[in-house]
Parts: sequence; structure tokens; C-alpha cells
Amino acid sequence: MKITNPATGAVIANLAADNSAAVRRKYEVARAGQARWARTPIRKRLEAIAKFRERIVAMHETLARTLTQEVGKPIRQSRNELNGLLGRIDFFLAESARALREEKVFADAKQNLEERITHEPLGVIANISAWNYPYFVGSNVFVPALVAGNAVLYKPSEFATLTGLHIAEMLHEAGIPRDVFVPVVGDGATGAALTRQPIDGVFFTGSYATGAKIAAAAGRRMIKVQLELGGKDPVYVCEDVDVKAVAAAVADGAFYNTGQSCCSVERIYVHESIHDAFVDAFVAEVKGFRMGDPMDEATYIGAITRRPQLDVLKRQVADAKKKGAKLNAGGNIVRGKGNWFEPTVFTEVDHSMALMRDESFGPIIGIQAVADDAAAIDLMNDTEYGLTAGVYTHDPKRARRILAPVRAGSVYWNCCDRVSPRLPWSGVGHSGIGLTLSTYGIQTFTRPKAWHLRGA
Ligand code: NAD
Repeated sequence: MKITNPATGAVIANLAADNSAAVRRKYEVARAGQARWARTPIRKRLEAIAKFRERIVAMHETLARTLTQEVGKPIRQSRNELNGLLGRIDFFLAESARALREEKVFADAKQNLEERITHEPLGVIANISAWNYPYFVGSNVFVPALVAGNAVLYKPSEFATLTGLHIAEMLHEAGIPRDVFVPVVGDGATGAALTRQPIDGVFFTGSYATGAKIAAAAGRRMIKVQLELGGKDPVYVCEDVDVKAVAAAVADGAFYNTGQSCCSVERIYVHESIHDAFVDAFVAEVKGFRMGDPMDEATYIGAITRRPQLDVLKRQVADAKKKGAKLNAGGNIVRGKGNWFEPTVFTEVDHSMALMRDESFGPIIGIQAVADDAAAIDLMNDTEYGLTAGVYTHDPKRARRILAPVRAGSVYWNCCDRVSPRLPWSGVGHSGIGLTLSTYGIQTFTRPKAWHLRGA
């Protein structure tokens, strides 16, 4: 397997991928390790995760540079991801013991009866991951899964394998046994081989198309399936806002990580009375974004990680132009080495255009004028996805009125493109099933067992 730097096209590593037989052997290793790990006291499991955190701090700059080299993420944004990861680990360290402890939910002396719940590990789980935030989307699964007593077969994306191997190395150094956290290297074929093993659960982060295949592969096996999939996340800007400040905030929400975030802003609706002023401020902001060498401290727009995505973006641009949209900035693939696409802004768009319907996953956005809140709500809900949605207004009551009927796992008032470890991360419709993060996202790696205890 060739690992390529998407910013330059240069091959930076050659690795051997796991074939079906290797995947099978790794599964057997994890199955053997899991029972012992489940008997290890939770205090010890948490100690290992705390040491993993120390390893991340010690390796911080090396990890950031590897991530930037293999996915093309601007170096500052790689560092931000690692800093955010520390906060997530802190959440799991603080909350896991409480979330997983045995609960007494009923006791009655007269009946001589007690009812209790214990949180049993699922067993051996597969963690099939995406490349866009490999530290975030990976750790949301493997940290609580390990703490809860599971063994994890972890397949990083083929576009973030070096990062995945760093993660494995640091977890092993921290004291997670090699037969409990087992990295599996390869592309979709290796992922598919993993889903064919007699695992107890599959936790996937990636596209709707792959998620649907994984759900089908797991369907007859009655194992836990969690899918964190894509989005077409809308933001609605009301007329009562500070236009310049909101334009800057929403531009960041749309273009951070070069638009390659599951919760990137992908559609903008603006009240018609401020539309022109908003577009002027937004386009000025986007034209100020520095695109270039991801290793450069000043770079804000990095490379497109997967080369085929350039064609998706090109097709969305052509379709929008053909259907009458106005191109306000960008619109082109940048010729030369590596995968690059100009930050692109369209106005006069509508929902007949792929740009407003299909996940773009790149630095491209459409801005549509709306007459009122009802029209904005209808448009926000006119999607197969439902990951996040945001509204910008000074009025908290109006924000609640708008966000209540919006079908999305997360809703934002005066913010966007935001994830908190304290809140559940989930999607509606094609954005997935199940959740990570929050105390629910710890318990999700367990099977609640019901104990009916009647004294003799
Ligand atoms: P992808 O679906 O192409 O790949 C994801 C993973 O699945 C990779 O590890 C890949 O090797 C593996 N895979 C591919 N085919 C498989 C198969 N048939 N069986 C098993 N595994 C298979 O997605 P990607 O390009 O890595 O990630 C981008 C997508 O992920 C976007 O749609 C984005 O919105 C979504 N995403 C969602 C979240 C979220 O939290 N909801 C977070 C990050 C990314």
C-alpha cells in the first residue's frame, strides 16, 4: 500500500496491507485477549488511557507533522486536532467510571427484591475509521470501548494509516495489551474482511455509501452497528445579526479543514434583507484565506486528501453553473502537483443543484436568499442528511423556534462546526445511527445486563 502526500503527490511510505487471512488471525488474537482485559479493573484500564494522553503530549509535534503529511491538513489545524483530543480524553477519564458503574434501580425489603444493571463489554469490536479527523473519530470509539473492557480491531482509513499506526504504538506503550488493541491496515477490501469476522459490534465513521454496505454486511448477524456518516449541514443567518462577524464565523465553519469535516457548513441560507451585505463580507473573508503548503504556519486552506474528490467538486461547479448559479469566487482545480481546489463561493443557488443536495466535502459553498424563517426551516430540512444545523440571530426565542423542528443530531445557536465531548454526537437519516461522546457514548460500548435479585 502506497502512502501519498496529497499536497505534493509524493509517495511517503510503502506498507503491507492485511489480507483476509491476516485479518482473521488478528481477530483471533483480539478474541483471546478480550476476556483477560474485561477482568482487568477499570482503574487499571483508565491508568493506561491516562498514559496514552501523556504519550500524545510528548509526541505532539511529530504526530501533527505526520498528520499534515498524509492528509494535507494545515499544520496549525493538525495541532488543534491533537489539542482537542486531549480534552476528549480528559472527559472519558473523568466520566467513565461513573457511566459504567453498577446501578441499583430498585430495592424493596418487603418483597425481598433488588433490581440492578451492570454494563457488560460487547466483546471484540471493529472500529473502521475515516481520515478527515483521524484522532477525533478514532478516539471517540476506541477510548471508551477499551475503558469499557472491549478488545478493538482498529482499521484507520487508508488515507490516514501512518496516524493510525502512531495511535497503536502510543496505546501499546501506555500499557494497552497488543492483543486488546489491534491495528488492521488496508483499504475498503480489508475493512470488508473485518466485517466478515465473528465480531460483536462494528463502529464505523465514513460515507453514507460505505455505511450502507457495512449495515448490510452486519444485518443478519444481530451485532451492534453504529454508523457516523456524512452531512449536508445548513446554517441560517437572520437579519438581526452583526453581518461581518457572522460572515467570518460561517466562512470558517465552511472552509476549516478545507471543508473536509463531517459537520462543515455545506449550505447557507441568508435572510433576503441582508443577503447582499452578507455575500460581500463572506466573499471578502474567503478571498483572504491563504491556500498553500500545509506545513506553512500561515496556511488555512490545505490539500484535498482524496484525489477523486476533485472530480466531485468539478461536477458540482459545472452543474451549478449550468443551472444558473452565480460564481463569486474560485471554481477551479489548481493544476500542478498534488490535489488542490480553489475556495469556491456560489450565490443564486437552489435545491435543484447538486451543490445544495449532495455532500461536497471540500472548499465549496452555496449561499441562498430566503424570505422568512419558515422558508429557511423548510430548506434546512430538505435533505436526506441530518448531522448538524445552525442559526445566527440575536433572539434566543427565535433561535429555539427555528431549531426545534430541524431534523439534525446537533443544533447550534450562534455557532457551527462544533463538537463537544459532553454532548452526544449523532445523525438523523443518511447521517447515521447510534452515537458517540457524552455518557451515552461511553455506555454504547456495553450491553446493559438486567439483574433481578430476590433474597432467599
Ligand atoms: P469512506 O466511507 O470512503 O471510508 C471510511 C472507512 O471505511 C475507511 O477506513 C475505508 O477503508 C473503509 N471501507 C471502505 N469500504 C468498505 C467496506 N465495503 N467495508 C468496510 N469498510 C470499508 O469515508 P472517508 O472518505 O474515509 O470519510 C469521509 C466521510 O466520512 C464523509 O462522508 C464524512 O462526512 C464522513 N464522516 C462522518 C463523521 C461523523 O462523525 N458523522 C466524521 C468524519 C467523517
